[in-house]
Amino acid sequence: MKSGRAATFGKSAAQFLVGCVRQVVNARPRTEPDAGLLEAVKPWQQVFEHNPVMYFMVDRVGTVINVNSFGAAQLGYTAAELIGRSVMGVFFEEDRDFVRSCVALCLKTIDQSHTWEIRKVRKDGSVLWVRENAKAMLRADGEPLVLVACENITERKEAENALRQSEAYLAQAQELSHTGSFGWSAATREITWSKETYRIFQFEEGTKPEIPRMLERIHPEDRPAVLRTTGRAARECKDYDHEYRLVMGDGSIKYVRAVARAARDASGQVEFVGSVSDITATKEAERRLRDSEQRFRDYAETASDWFWETGPDHRVTQVSEHSDTITAPAGLIGLTRWDIAPDAALEPEKWQEHRAALDAHVPFRDLVYRSRDRNGQPIYVRTSGKPIFGADGTFLGYRGVCTDVTAAIRANQAEAALRKAQAELAHVTRVTTLGELTASIAHEINQPLAAVIANADACLGWLQRSPPDIKAARRSVEWIIEDGTRASDVIRRVRALAKRTEVEMAPLDLNGVVREAVALVQREMASHAVSIRMELSSALPKIVGDRIQLQQVLINLIMNGIEAMESVNDRPRELAIRSAASGDGAMLLSVSDCGVGICEQSIDRLFTPFFTTKSSGMGMGLSICRSIIEAHGGRLSAAPNQGRGATFQITLPLDREETS
Ligand code: ADP
Repeated sequence: MKSGRAATFGKSAAQFLVGCVRQVVNARPRTEPDAGLLEAVKPWQQVFEHNPVMYFMVDRVGTVINVNSFGAAQLGYTAAELIGRSVMGVFFEEDRDFVRSCVALCLKTIDQSHTWEIRKVRKDGSVLWVRENAKAMLRADGEPLVLVACENITERKEAENALRQSEAYLAQAQELSHTGSFGWSAATREITWSKETYRIFQFEEGTKPEIPRMLERIHPEDRPAVLRTTGRAARECKDYDHEYRLVMGDGSIKYVRAVARAARDASGQVEFVGSVSDITATKEAERRLRDSEQRFRDYAETASDWFWETGPDHRVTQVSEHSDTITAPAGLIGLTRWDIAPDAALEPEKWQEHRAALDAHVPFRDLVYRSRDRNGQPIYVRTSGKPIFGADGTFLGYRGVCTDVTAAIRANQAEAALRKAQAELAHVTRVTTLGELTASIAHEINQPLAAVIANADACLGWLQRSPPDIKAARRSVEWIIEDGTRASDVIRRVRALAKRTEVEMAPLDLNGVVREAVALVQREMASHAVSIRMELSSALPKIVGDRIQLQQVLINLIMNGIEAMESVNDRPRELAIRSAASGDGAMLLSVSDCGVGICEQSIDRLFTPFFTTKSSGMGMGLSICRSIIEAHGGRLSAAPNQGRGATFQITLPLDREETS
């Protein structure tokens, strides 16, 4: 029976029926039923039997006295199967106490009707929900009788259960997704919230949500924007979607996003239905992402001056400049790197190689090229880039960083210029030294030349003999060749010292270098009565160096030694040259004299340019020697001897290939 019908099951029908039954039942024990009366009751009995309402009559202990056919059929029984049995059989075990209490209540309150909802169990075990309307009345013999009319509410109960379940599912879904729902009326300002919305706002569930309280929860900085958005939406009947922060009871911050749909109710008033999501976790993740992006940006910014991006055709699509730099050239967008660089035509190989790397879509590193800054000034730029690809593997272009390396390049250029100037200076001083050595050199050449002439004379003599002494003549010619070679060797060395300025590093035998240098100053030593002692360690590993420059250093040190011993008359003037391998992978070469010596305090000054104690001195010798040795990765130092004189020591690194 539908609820609409239930409403028509009013008091009057029940009273009437009870009245009828009372007449019938009360009449029976006393006399035989009156035929007329039975006739009168018949139609009402038909109504009782077939009315689509279940009627039960039970006695004080719950025995079924009567039931209409409809009522019995609803439960899957015939009336005969139920009459005389306890009515408890049609209730669930667990509901029977409740049934007993209901019957007891009716018996206590005769003639008063009571209503309740309860489950019944059909013969086949299925459930039938009923709404029972019951009332106890007294029979003529004073025995109470309970009359029950039941309406089938199974369908409604099932709908209610389904609704309850779907509400539970919805609440669960809202809880899991941290999304609550709400509704509010713009006119009445009334709000309704779902359980999850209460949880998000941390309001006690069931309290009435009110706009002022809700606003209080919103972060003060976000409040004006929230009011603006919702106010406008209410005025214009518009949907809205906004984010704001909540300040929770413990002071923590929660980020929420509210989305609402506007509609007009039956009376034309604007109302909203929407959802509110707790997006704190998402915001946190976003923040962490932003932080890590910022970290990489910081790294990149400290390592470079600007970032760039190019498209698949290698034309610049984007140039990002850090706020604190001004070097990034302007107007790069749409150009390729080789459009910008003025050296593209001058260094075709470099650019061909670079373009091949770009076409192969491989990363490139430290390409240095010339460009101009935004003031048009020429600059040197160093750039590195990495290809970028879409999700499907399509080549999208390159992304990379640029640094202005003008200062570093200029410094390198200055250093190269300095090196060149030093080499030229070394050359000049070499030539000067050679000038000083002219007498020695002339002597070195004259000696073999004189020998050549003498031997040639002798040769003629041997040939003029009769018979000519061919054997002796041949020996003379051999000596001529030897002396001629000696003279030409001297000339070759002098020319080498005089000519070359380009530095030429090659593996060298240090002892060979020493011997050649000594050969050039032999005469100088002899004329100053200086004897030389050479203690050259045999089988020394090779060093890498410039033969001429190292000879220049040695000649300088030897000449200084000779000059330092000029005033020595009380002892032999001796110069010692020693070579040895030091324990730590270097070579030592020293020149010691027993001359005037040097004092500890002035040692460093000796190596400064133009420092001299000699009337005709230039003061450049030692300073040039030191720069030559340092260019070889070595050291030149001076120290006073234990006894007399000074020692100048050169330390040179070994040829790396030899040591490895
Ligand atoms: P110059 O020989 O033209 O003076 P150097 O740079 O070769 O220039 O030497 C600088 C100075 O160092 C010399 O003037 C001299 O005072 C000192 N000096 C160089 N070699 C020796 C040495 N073997 N013993 C003592 N003093 C030396």
